Amino acid sequence: MLTDNHNRIISYLRVSVTDRCNFRCVYCMPADGIELSPKSHLLTFEEIARVAGVGASLGLLKIRLTGGEPTVRRDLPQLVRMLSAIPGIREIAMTTNASRLQELAQPLKDAGLHRVNISLDTLRRERARDIARRDFFDAVQHGIEAAIRVGLTPLKFNAVVMRGVNDDELPDLVRFAHGRGAAMRFIEYMPMGAARFDGRNQTVTQSEMLERLRPHFDLERATSGSGNAENDPARGWVCRRSGARVGFITSMSEHFCDTCNRMRLTAEGELRPCLHQNAGVDVRGVLRDGGDDCDIAAAFRQAASLKWAGHRLTDVIPLFSVREMVSIGG
Ligand code: SF4
Repeated sequence: MLTDNHNRIISYLRVSVTDRCNFRCVYCMPADGIELSPKSHLLTFEEIARVAGVGASLGLLKIRLTGGEPTVRRDLPQLVRMLSAIPGIREIAMTTNASRLQELAQPLKDAGLHRVNISLDTLRRERARDIARRDFFDAVQHGIEAAIRVGLTPLKFNAVVMRGVNDDELPDLVRFAHGRGAAMRFIEYMPMGAARFDGRNQTVTQSEMLERLRPHFDLERATSGSGNAENDPARGWVCRRSGARVGFITSMSEHFCDTCNRMRLTAEGELRPCLHQNAGVDVRGVLRDGGDDCDIAAAFRQAASLKWAGHRLTDVIPLFSVREMVSIGG
């Protein structure tokens, strides 16, 4: 079992398969993107599967594929197939902007992908173009339909809520998700990297969002049986009338670090104990210097031992990740 110095069990690995993305979301990266890593610096599928395999032997149960945008990495179904073959891994999920799911949903499902979370910040074309700085509105809608059609479910939608940008769309987004049998999760904006200097990145808290939703939905806290895993970062609510499910990821107003079970593997092969902590262990070096599984396991344990109690984003003197969200994988 992999535990950190705060007695939290690490059972969930978020694997960034690329630092590339076909979007340029204002809360995730600067307008002109980031300096991309040379392809040779990115872990190969074999290397990712090797690290995940050792992680599984240490008790990892769940893998989430992230990016950048994971679907821009070529032959992604091949990696899913390799990860599906690892004993002990119970769930393989992916977070995506859905723009490439129309062509990839079926091959990913066939390869063993269980389900997806889809980033959906708005239902308005112009606004989508402003937030993502690209126009993939139709492709995203087709991707959503494909995910439902092939059964990459239970489906969850994630929206980063920014004051004065999309915080007037909360009821519409809940209805959109509910109409597709999915939960809608609202993420409190978390300041990271250079993107935090973009004036649009203003946090809207759970309590403010609830205020906006209550006139439309008769919300009550979801009970433990509502399908939210114990370590699920989302605080679940459900509408008594319609059954619509809403979640809030409250990193800023009510953090959930005490029950954090996550570790991240970046595309360049760094094991990062926390999204916001400027710390990590270079496991790519271990792999490419001929390290064995014991050496990889040692890297996991070292990363776990580095993990702090929780983020420092709301401290009097806050600490921010110097890296952009896109290069860590959210
Ligand atoms: S901020 Fe860090 S410690 Fe807190 S929940 Fe996120 S990854 Fe875990």
